[in-house]
Amino acid sequence: MSEKEPREYELDGRPIVCSHCQKSRFLKGAALLNTSTMTFLGLDWANRSAITLMCSRCGLIQWFAEPPVAKET
Ligand SMILES: [Zn+2]
Repeated sequence: MSEKEPREYELDGRPIVCSHCQKSRFLKGAALLNTSTMTFLGLDWANRSAITLMCSRCGLIQWFAEPPVAKET
């Protein structure tokens, strides 16, 4: 599956909207976090990867420990 096309996502039944420009289309990415970073952030209960969604309009990146669900379009 290509991640080149911006898509709409939701998490916990709520649509994800860019907190800066209010757009709802994002490019999905993943970031691997090393253990020291996770400990520093107090997130060592989570696994070592996080999902990032980059706003296709303004480029703001939001981080998610839970994977957001892509909406069917
Ligand atoms: Zn935006």
